[in-house]
Amino acid sequence: MFVLSNRAKSLKPSPTLAINAKAKSMQAQGIHVISFGAGEPDFDTPQNIKAAAIKAIEEGFTKYTPVGGTDELKDAIIKKFQRDNGLTYKRSEIIASCGGKHSFYNLAQAIFDAGDEVIIPAPYWVSYPPMVALAGAVPVIVETREENGFKLSMEDLKKAITPKTKALIINSPSNPTGGAYTKEELEKIAGMALSHNFFVISDEIYEKIVYDHFKFISIVSLSEEIKKRTIIVHGVAKTYAMTGWRIGYTAGPEEIISAMSNIQSQSTSNPTSIAQKASVEALAGSQKEVFKMVTAFEERRNYIVDRLNKIPGVSCFKPIGAFYVFPNFSSYYVKSYQGKKISNSTELADYLLDVARVAVVPGVEFGADPFERLSYATSMEDIKEGLNRIEEALRKLV
Ligand SMILES: *Cc1c(COP(=O)(O)O)cnc(C)c1O
Repeated sequence: MFVLSNRAKSLKPSPTLAINAKAKSMQAQGIHVISFGAGEPDFDTPQNIKAAAIKAIEEGFTKYTPVGGTDELKDAIIKKFQRDNGLTYKRSEIIASCGGKHSFYNLAQAIFDAGDEVIIPAPYWVSYPPMVALAGAVPVIVETREENGFKLSMEDLKKAITPKTKALIINSPSNPTGGAYTKEELEKIAGMALSHNFFVISDEIYEKIVYDHFKFISIVSLSEEIKKRTIIVHGVAKTYAMTGWRIGYTAGPEEIISAMSNIQSQSTSNPTSIAQKASVEALAGSQKEVFKMVTAFEERRNYIVDRLNKIPGVSCFKPIGAFYVFPNFSSYYVKSYQGKKISNSTELADYLLDVARVAVVPGVEFGADPFERLSYATSMEDIKEGLNRIEEALRKLV
């Protein structure tokens, strides 16, 4: 008898979580590792948000809530879309889940069937292809180019569209590249979705983390027609340094939200009541802390991009948003260390962890082997020391 399902056997753990685990276990052995692996802000959750959660506990707000979140939370989400994006949603078009990842998972379960094709531009967030595949659908990977700001070209998109195309996933600003779409580019994507009749899944989790006064636009705001064809996946994790609280949310057509709610009602039920109260405060309360965090991220981005571009053989696109850089290290994939060849992003990441004691995430995990992902959601001091170590380790390669 076989123990595991084919579904379970087809999965491997999220590589970004795995790299952090390895770095942490080295730390536990007393090795000083500098980690650029983090997929989360290094800041603490703002005090007003914590206070709302403590109040919720003290007031006994500790029971089941409606499956898709309280009306209070849904209203805070609705207000956020109105305030920030000029979008109008009804409660029946909103669902809160246990993190943006859970939102995406439930969405995939709600709209994908076996044989459906889902276009995913690469570099992509590591979890999209497995979650699409878990829903039985086929991830169709379309490559983007560094010199294009890692954005989908319409020619490449067109080539990937077939009668089976059910959806396109966009993530702007992007994890891992920091690329972000302009209004004009989104208009072209929306035009394609409408003329070829597929859905757009717009992962807007990094909406607030943008630099150089970049104006974030949600594709949904372009027209009523594209609103009917788009599902926004969002959450509080990145904007409010709330990764551990596990609140994500989805906005989209009522029929889809209702199906997601059914799936959620038979699996997790409601997201944590206390975290919902905290998220109401996050979305509706003062946004001052967000500004402070983004200012710090921008300063680090400027530094890290500059340093990386000064390393011989490395090129680094300057991110427009999120808190990652995605430098191209492929000129090192022909080198060796003590007779051992380094020939791809995984081997270089292993080398950097072993020799430089610096954790980065191999680009191959995001569907782009020439690159490594470095998160700058870490202190300036660590960024400086980490880059010194990387430079020194790269110099040892022959
Ligand atoms: C972090 C992240 C999410 C969601 O994270 P949660 O912690 O599950 O809310 C979604 N999409 C992208 C691209 C992310 O980087």
